Amino acid sequence: MSASKYKSDLLIGGEWTETSQQFPVLNPASMEVLSEVSDASPDDALQAVGAAHDAFSHWSQTSSRQRAEVLRRAFEIMTDEIEDCARLIALENGKAWRDAMGEATYAAEFFRWFSEEASRIAGDFRYAPNRDKTIIVDHRPVGVAYMITPWNFPAAMATRKLAPALAAGCTAVLKPASETPLTALWVADVLQRAGAPAGVVNVITTSTSGKVSSAVLADPRVATLSFTGSTYVGKLLLAQTAQRVLPSSMELGGNAPFLVLEGADVELAVVGAMDAKMRNGGSACTAANRFYVHESLAADFAQHFQLALAGLRIGPGIDQANDLGAMVSVKERDKVLDLLGKAEGEGAKPVAVSEAPEFGAFMAPRIVRDVQHGSTLTRDEIFGPVAPIVSFSSQDEAIRMANDTDYGLISYVFAKDNGEGIKVARRMESGMVAVNRGVMSDPAAPFGGMKESGLGREGGFAGVHEFLESQYFAVDL
Ligand code: NAP
Repeated sequence: MSASKYKSDLLIGGEWTETSQQFPVLNPASMEVLSEVSDASPDDALQAVGAAHDAFSHWSQTSSRQRAEVLRRAFEIMTDEIEDCARLIALENGKAWRDAMGEATYAAEFFRWFSEEASRIAGDFRYAPNRDKTIIVDHRPVGVAYMITPWNFPAAMATRKLAPALAAGCTAVLKPASETPLTALWVADVLQRAGAPAGVVNVITTSTSGKVSSAVLADPRVATLSFTGSTYVGKLLLAQTAQRVLPSSMELGGNAPFLVLEGADVELAVVGAMDAKMRNGGSACTAANRFYVHESLAADFAQHFQLALAGLRIGPGIDQANDLGAMVSVKERDKVLDLLGKAEGEGAKPVAVSEAPEFGAFMAPRIVRDVQHGSTLTRDEIFGPVAPIVSFSSQDEAIRMANDTDYGLISYVFAKDNGEGIKVARRMESGMVAVNRGVMSDPAAPFGGMKESGLGREGGFAGVHEFLESQYFAVDL
């Protein structure tokens, strides 16, 4: 085992396994190396698949009560040690302390929710309509689940997959993002301490995700893929899973519209905009990407939003006094700056509302008024603290512009009341709609997108079914 103060080796079959090669994990607020982490090869990854496959025969036969108790203990351990988790998130991801604590708490809640769901996995019993047979439907664990997670929620994206998989009776091989592997290793350690038997949860950290994942997905012992990340990588993976007709759950990119309709409460909309845009510094698939504001409210909204953004204190996430931390890497920050450069080339006029520290991967929020619908900032996923504002004159026009995208993860609707908000929400082409509020994620709700934002749902009652396969028995009873 390596000497790092963080868990930094692969977890295979219950053993922490060091590899000959390592790769560095940086703190994006200081650019210091936090840890050198084991760099899995395709062979290492296949060993993890073997361990998960061996563990499946036992784990899939345990009682749902036993599995629930492991998950419940994981929730309790994580809750007792919530600040340790938040510290790791803030250090390797860069996000502000409040966001890191919010994520750690949200992540732990998936263990609680799916500990409660484990024993509620129910089959179906009914008579065929013409009564010539009885239909019995069983749901059984699909097998070894391969999970790939992004860097923006290193704890929650792992628990949102691990908890339902374990509740269902599946075993897991988790591959976290190379920028943020430490939190995932910590989560796996929590599950070990909670009593998950050796091999039920395996973690492979790697700097060669493409090669490693191709080897894993080609292995017939792997039964399902659960991916969270960009639509671009999701499509590459779907091309591979198609070769084996492998079930694939995809939580992909977003381009969330945020509508402020005529008559909406501007103050409430600005509070919602701060949540929807700035949680995680804008690096969230749920982040409001483009603001469509009725022309009667646009100037007022922009002015108050700008003031609120300017009030954010920027600095290392680990310092609890800061509201906005670093972005995950200089590379990700520069991607956002490139997008802004492109927008400026199209005539956009971004205003930096404050100043960011000059070291590390920091970026000051930008507000961009009078943006044209169809321009770069309304088409591409920004994934940073940039808020483009488009004004509109009619509700139909706003809804048309909001739906004019290949993505369909989430929309925000601020209306004069909830009744109007829900009417408009029904017309949004997105898997989720927040009405008169800026935050909606909840382990008890189905999270997922329409169109190119994904396939399947995580959380809620649906989440566990991503890891179950139904089998129908016909019988004369
Ligand atoms: P990404 O580049 O797609 O990476 C996601 C994961 O895929 C990482 O673990 C990455 O590993 C891995 N990966 C990259 N290339 C791969 C390949 N060729 N084969 C197999 N795995 C590969 O996305 P990201 O930049 O980390 O995350 C941001 C994206 O995730 C955004 O588009 C965001 O909207 C989306 N997201 C969606 C949800 C949702 O629930 N819908 C939630 C969070 C984020 P490496 O780190 O080694 O590259």
